[in-house]
Amino acid sequence: MDKERKLIIAGNWKMNKTVAEALDLVNGLKRELSNVKEVDIVVCPPFTALSEVSKAILDSNIRLGAQNMSEHNVGAFTGEIAAVMLKEFSVRYVILGHSERRQYQKESDDLIARKALAAHAASLKPIICVGETLQEREAGLTEKVLETQVRGSLAGLSRDQMVETIIAYEPVWAIGTGKTATTEQAQQAHAFIRSLLARLYDEATARKVRIQYGGSVKPSNARELMSQPDVDGALVGGASLEVRSFSDIVKNSI
Ligand code: PEP
Repeated sequence: MDKERKLIIAGNWKMNKTVAEALDLVNGLKRELSNVKEVDIVVCPPFTALSEVSKAILDSNIRLGAQNMSEHNVGAFTGEIAAVMLKEFSVRYVILGHSERRQYQKESDDLIARKALAAHAASLKPIICVGETLQEREAGLTEKVLETQVRGSLAGLSRDQMVETIIAYEPVWAIGTGKTATTEQAQQAHAFIRSLLARLYDEATARKVRIQYGGSVKPSNARELMSQPDVDGALVGGASLEVRSFSDIVKNSI
């Protein structure tokens, strides 16, 4: 597939996989995906598996991501993990503002923006998640919600930082539900986000930013979604937990 931007497909393992299970999964992915050069492949295990997974993917084409981090660099923040600690395991990406954290941990756009700045300060690339709920979509508020989240979560990022930031459009109603946005719905939301980036930054910057789609991506719908002009990859939850489904998503996207 000939794309303007290199596809980036990331697996968000959420709170799944012991260290032994994580190693099984990533070793399987290494075997299946060793020849793939066209896609940036990222796995985001739980913190407890970062060390072992990091060693397992040395010398492979798979890169490491984390699922969250603190906005602080050091200090009395019980239970938190700082960007520099992630860097010790060669983590390159960090998911920020996933809808589950927005919902359960009440993370705000302002907090996500501070985390994004802290990530960039440590040379980690943030994957910033945005997306509307079903209620918001049905009330015709999708673009308004996306605009608020994008403006708020990117606040303070420079042009150079923006280009190194990935946005994941994840309609909340499609996450873990088996309901995927239609290709038209995905493309429309992605094009809207890109036009907003052009307004907030400029056209050239907006054209460089990769926007992933997330929400029940599976091998059977990956190709059609990835073929949309403004869809530059996927953030995959459930289907990233098995070697077969995640590797097929990657292969079907090429
Ligand atoms: C996600 O949680 O980021 C996600 C997209 O989940 P799923 O693929 O399971 O819908």
